[in-house]
Amino acid sequence: MGERRPMIAGNWKMYKTGEEAKDTAKQLVELVKEVKNTDIMIAPAFTSLASVFQAVKGSNVALGAQNLFWETQGAYTGEISPMMVKDAGCTHVILGHSERRQYFSETDESVNKKIKAAIENNLIPVFCVGETEAQRDSKETFSVLDKQIQIGLKGFSVKSLERLVVAYEPVWAIGTGKTATREQAQEVHAFIRNLLEKMFGLDLSDGIRILYGGSVKPENISELMALKDVDGALVGGASLTARTFADIVTFK
Ligand code: PEP
Repeated sequence: MGERRPMIAGNWKMYKTGEEAKDTAKQLVELVKEVKNTDIMIAPAFTSLASVFQAVKGSNVALGAQNLFWETQGAYTGEISPMMVKDAGCTHVILGHSERRQYFSETDESVNKKIKAAIENNLIPVFCVGETEAQRDSKETFSVLDKQIQIGLKGFSVKSLERLVVAYEPVWAIGTGKTATREQAQEVHAFIRNLLEKMFGLDLSDGIRILYGGSVKPENISELMALKDVDGALVGGASLTARTFADIVTFK
């Protein structure tokens, strides 16, 4: 198995003003400054990117956006281009989050275009996939993931996906306090890695990081990280407080 560097990412969703976000980021930078073996990323709202960049610049905390639009520029009111995201200081971007799929009509096809635009602009995509509770109950988990990944990653070369990060986020576990069991998480992560191997070969599938997301907290991070195919976490609610997020980053 290749060496995969752990990654803990925080998704701040539609929370915090610029000042609040900057304060939390400053606290986090202080709390995790000794961490060397883990990639750390936070994704505040667009309006806080510039202020949070001031707080994390030069630290071991990377900045991510929560979305982007694939066009370079133009008459697309309300949208943000990859260049704008980079200009604000981002190195990462979360794409295809289930809340965007559910409330803002994102499809596998639009996520594919966004991943392409991110990679072309040298941004690291954190590509989110996951099934709903109804899909799990009707035993569609693997077919749903297969479709999300086959379409989401359609048309890419192996080389272009080297820095891609995948996040498995069962929709029924997001913000609900329910976490997938160890068996459920490992089973799906292994499925995703196998699928990536079939699509892009062993070198890529072995090196790619697959994060788990869904009610991750300091109390459950170590059992998740102990799983063979779990390489980190995408954290929503528990990333909003610097101390709690730092406890996840520095889990024992
Ligand atoms: C998320 O939104 O990506 C997420 C995993 O949220 P939470 O940790 O709050 O379940």
